Amino acid sequence: MQSLQDPVTKLKGVGAKRAADLATLGIDTVADLLTYYPTRYNDLTPADIQAAKDKQKVTLVGKVVSEPLLTRFGYRRNRLSFRLQVGNNVVMVTFFNQPYLEKKLVIDKTVTVMGKWDARRQQVTANRLLDAAPQESNDFGAVYSVNKHVKQALLRSLIRQAYEEYRGVIPTLLPQTLRQRYRLLNRRTMIKELHFPTDAAQAKAARRTATYEEFFLFQLRLQAIRQAQRQQDGLQILYHNDEVKEFISHIGFELTNAQKRVVNEICADLRRPYQMNRLLQGDVGSGKTIVAAIAIYATITAGYQAALMAPTEILAAQHAEKLAKTFAGTHVHIGLLTGSLSAKQHRQLRDAIKRGDINLVIGTHALIQDDVEYANLGLAITDEQHRFGVNQRQRLREKGDNPDILAMTATPIPRTLAITAYGEMDVSIIDELPAGRKPIQTKWFKVDQQNEALHFLRDQLAAGAQAYVVSPLIEESEALDVQNATDLYQQLATYLAPDYQVGLLHGRMTGEEKDQVMHDFQDGKTQVLVSTTVIEVGVDNPNATVMIIYNADRFGLAQLHQLRGRVGRGDRQSYCLLLADPKTDDGKARMKTMVATNDGFKVAQRDLELRGSGDVLGRKQSGLPDFKVGDPVGDLKILQIARNDAEQLLKAPHWDTIDDNQPLVLYLQRHQLETHFD
Ligand code: ADP
Ligand code: MG
Repeated sequence: MQSLQDPVTKLKGVGAKRAADLATLGIDTVADLLTYYPTRYNDLTPADIQAAKDKQKVTLVGKVVSEPLLTRFGYRRNRLSFRLQVGNNVVMVTFFNQPYLEKKLVIDKTVTVMGKWDARRQQVTANRLLDAAPQESNDFGAVYSVNKHVKQALLRSLIRQAYEEYRGVIPTLLPQTLRQRYRLLNRRTMIKELHFPTDAAQAKAARRTATYEEFFLFQLRLQAIRQAQRQQDGLQILYHNDEVKEFISHIGFELTNAQKRVVNEICADLRRPYQMNRLLQGDVGSGKTIVAAIAIYATITAGYQAALMAPTEILAAQHAEKLAKTFAGTHVHIGLLTGSLSAKQHRQLRDAIKRGDINLVIGTHALIQDDVEYANLGLAITDEQHRFGVNQRQRLREKGDNPDILAMTATPIPRTLAITAYGEMDVSIIDELPAGRKPIQTKWFKVDQQNEALHFLRDQLAAGAQAYVVSPLIEESEALDVQNATDLYQQLATYLAPDYQVGLLHGRMTGEEKDQVMHDFQDGKTQVLVSTTVIEVGVDNPNATVMIIYNADRFGLAQLHQLRGRVGRGDRQSYCLLLADPKTDDGKARMKTMVATNDGFKVAQRDLELRGSGDVLGRKQSGLPDFKVGDPVGDLKILQIARNDAEQLLKAPHWDTIDDNQPLVLYLQRHQLETHFD
């Protein structure tokens, strides 16, 4: 039996080598291939060359009216030119380095070329040729995102083959009521029209269908989780109110009103007999840690354990240390569980957790590994939630006996999106910074103004400040990141010697080395900390008031805002210096946004506007899943509608016994805990 889950090797012409190449694009099965949608379409509507502007991208359909002339120059470089009659005009067409096209250019034949128009010379520098008029070739010009292992043409022909052979087994997922309500295409037509659209209108309908389907299925999964939780009994954490109040009175500062409000929301949830599942959102520096500490303390007064999960070892270690101070003299006993413990230490700690001797476990995702058993876990908290996916959220939830869940995030995605990306959670928001904070001043320097930035740094150090310096990010290679950080460290150490000490932090260091470096910086033994983005999340040293970011244009806005959030944590004036020569308009817009605002929600809004769904810079920072077709910003309306529909569907009594819903029942069984967006 044919199945969409068949491996791609079932297709003609796909052996082990090709399969491996396709796997680099995440394509393993026929289903993967069929849902590998084009990122865009070439507009094959023929251009009117009279009206075409200089340098405009044009598609021209015409007749070949001269023998193609192939000129070779140098090693492997060549030019292929011919005349094309378009209507009453004759234009010159040139291809570079595509000599094999020569044989397709037969005199009098109709061809389509795509390229850039040179109005002055009346010629086209072309990059693509169809040896027919577009409608005859039935190729609307789908363009896929490919890499060096897989070529456009190969992908296109494999997708066509897969479609032809498997079209009969493409299941319909959405119930008829929904398809009719929104006039959606059926799934087979949708897939066909996405890859080989009949015309622009059909392509649009297919995209609309796919967007709705994708959002709906995502929401269905989240809502199903939410519903299962609602039906599930949770723990009733009967904390001791007086002890909690007493603890709060010893914190050393007054909680902001926003902190008080969210503490109340969380505590009310703790007492309720069902499982809390709450997202705590608050901009960097808004004071989420102390809110977590209060919830932890309350849980422990009721005799339960608490767990706090952080995305990096550095942050976990910092939390352990700070909370040890916060909880000094109480009956909170902290254990730090990370990947860098020895096997023996790890075992001892696990035993203590199992016995309940440790009642606050802090760590990285080592916390949710199977071998960690809790005596009576009552509350599980994730810090910097956006770094974890739906699966990890779910895993933590399943630890112990349905503990209450608090997920904290600084990623200030707009509320409408938050409830959508975290559709299975309730949301609490800290929308206020502690009193007395001065807005961070952000300045943008061109790279050739580096010396100015460094003088500024020196002046600030002289005034007693500490500083972070973030080295350029090279996405492809951690080794290069480390090299960059090391180089920058050496330069700065030399430049600042002998007056100031510089530290270096990167991901390749051992846990112990990292601890040492962080301590030296926290204790003021080093004044400057050069680092890769490992310091990005959570690190808290209120005496650090200067942040310098090299090649700032390489970072997404959300990430820049997180990095900037490392300063401005005390009552002294803080500064963020961005060093960048952005090459793109988007890059410039990001720098300007950073200079213009400190407000995480504004930064996030701008970020989403700028990125749309196209740009992947900083994507994993947003906390949003990677949708294939839908754009959670541009298509927000559809997202909201889909969310409602999913909720309604699940609310209907016995929805899972209705025939028309069976494909969805199956879908949920298969996808409950397995996603492509983790
Ligand atoms: P984030 O929300 O980014 O995790 P933190 O919890 O690290 O922020 O808090 C940032 C800093 O602000 C910490 O040094 C913390 O002690 C301090 N802080 C938190 N709440 C208050 C408050 N209400 N008043 C004064 N300082 C506070
Ligand atoms: Mg934090």
